[in-house]
Amino acid sequence: MDKVCVFCKKDQDEVPLVHLEFKNKEFWICPQHIPILIHDPSKLVGHLDDADTIQAG
Ligand SMILES: [Zn+2]
Repeated sequence: MDKVCVFCKKDQDEVPLVHLEFKNKEFWICPQHIPILIHDPSKLVGHLDDADTIQAG
């Protein structure tokens, strides 16, 4: 998997990326999109496998 934000696909030359692991898969997300992961992970469906199983905070 490329090291790009799972949501906006920017790479680490453009934005800082935070490394995450979910269901034994790795992915990266930029600070701008961390709130989506926290508050509205259903928006990641289609971007991240099994995003529909993330429980919103
Ligand atoms: Zn992003």
